[in-house]
Amino acid sequence: MTRAALHWFRDDLRLADNPGLAAATAHGPTLCLYILDEGGERRRLGGASRWWLAQSLRALSASLRERGAELVVMRADPADLLPKLVAEAGIDLVTWSRRYEAAAIALDRDLKETLVGAGVTVRSFNSHLLNEPWQVSSKLGEPMKVFTPYWRAARAKGEPAAPEPAPQRILPLPLPRALARAAVDLTDLALEPARPDWAGGLRAEWTPGEAGAAERLGDFLSGSLGGYGEGRNRPDCVSTSRLSPHLRFGEIGPRQIWHACQTASAAGMAAGGASDIDKFLSEIGWREFSYHLLFYNPELATKNYNARFDAFPWAPETQALKRWQRGQTGYPLVDAGMRELWATGWMHNRVRMVVASFLIKHLLIDWRQGEDWFWDTLVDADPASNAASWQWVAGSGADAAPYYRIFNPVTQGEKFDPRGDYVRRWVPELADLDDAAIHTPWQASASALRDAGVSLGETYPMPVIDLAFGRQRALDALASVSGET
Ligand code: FAD
Repeated sequence: MTRAALHWFRDDLRLADNPGLAAATAHGPTLCLYILDEGGERRRLGGASRWWLAQSLRALSASLRERGAELVVMRADPADLLPKLVAEAGIDLVTWSRRYEAAAIALDRDLKETLVGAGVTVRSFNSHLLNEPWQVSSKLGEPMKVFTPYWRAARAKGEPAAPEPAPQRILPLPLPRALARAAVDLTDLALEPARPDWAGGLRAEWTPGEAGAAERLGDFLSGSLGGYGEGRNRPDCVSTSRLSPHLRFGEIGPRQIWHACQTASAAGMAAGGASDIDKFLSEIGWREFSYHLLFYNPELATKNYNARFDAFPWAPETQALKRWQRGQTGYPLVDAGMRELWATGWMHNRVRMVVASFLIKHLLIDWRQGEDWFWDTLVDADPASNAASWQWVAGSGADAAPYYRIFNPVTQGEKFDPRGDYVRRWVPELADLDDAAIHTPWQASASALRDAGVSLGETYPMPVIDLAFGRQRALDALASVSGET
């Protein structure tokens, strides 16, 4: 019997450390497939993610071609397509990397049953996480609810397996003639914006794809890893790895990051010491914990983890959400973050916490509205980390920020953007204000505003809400559902 394999690429758009691809190519000639599946239960990708996906598929396609294979792209329902494709092409092994959203798990389970029923071997692998969500549990064998013991238990499992290199050559399996017409060109997927083309800032900032991810990691290990423990809070400098979109699309995996940290450290090539590396890996740990939460709470993006928050008294709808989305709240740090997001598809973690807290607490707008906006605009929009982080800020999540923790955008700005460089970059109409006024333009004297060319209410908005009023209103609302008085 001839041997033929299919590797179905999903959120694992890389060749190295991809055990499913390795198993397929070791088995025999391989069909490398990507399916854009937008009809089912799965959440449709947001605009920024679609842009990223287009670039990432292009990069993957080029690397496959260098190794002798083609990336076949189709727009289809995988449940219909795969059984037909496998039968037509005489494929006896199908491989993929596991996914963790409920709808994807259900689709994969059903599909596996169908294919196995047709006599095909199906093998699924972990390429996305250090540990599968079910591999870490409490001493009683239960899902974990608090990060610190979760991460301690995860680390106690020891080193993750060493990543496998990319296959040198891939023997291609041609697409059967009967299905050749179902293959589409990448541009036919219409993943990129055309009119208007709003992706200029994304193109300027990012190099999607496996090579771009490896370069980011290298730059980080020899650069901002030094002092990461402290520096990671500073949005005014490049202080973090910016690997999140690469991780989201599986252009790099956490095993590779883990081992690269150890190798660089052992070779004396890492800019940071053991405590910086530990801190960095613990952030990867938050990603793992988010997947653990998502796996055990499939409705994490839509339902309060803590049901007490179902009774939360959100404010009636106003123009405030639009002002937040557009970076026009009148609070410079919030506006800088929202504009950075719009321009580049990414926002620094410290600022994400501040803008999320401002939306939920000062403006009393449902965290799901913020989660949704981030889902559409982030290049790293992630089904687990986005939902878990929004619930963390809201106070409704597992191991969440305490309900009385309300980030003050002014003091956060003064502490983490002390010279106002971040605000000046993203809110240029305030650039000529002096450092003392950059986070509080409404308190600046008339002459300081005039000298800086700022006219409040015209060139830059007045604050959308009074901070003290918003804070007290939030505390009252939060106390009503927190169970604490
Ligand atoms: P680094 O500091 O270099 O961290 C390395 C990696 O660890 C990141 O790439 C990321 O994969 C992971 N990581 C870091 N912090 C966290 C965290 N708090 N939670 C989970 N994983 C983390 N991250 C996403 O990847 N996708 C999202 O959709 C997302 N939405 C968020 C929404 C809100 C409201 C908040 C407060 C945070 C969100 N985060 C999200 C987490 C975090 O802000 C980003 O992962 C981080 O800013 C990415 O930048 P980096 O790669 O430079 O991080």
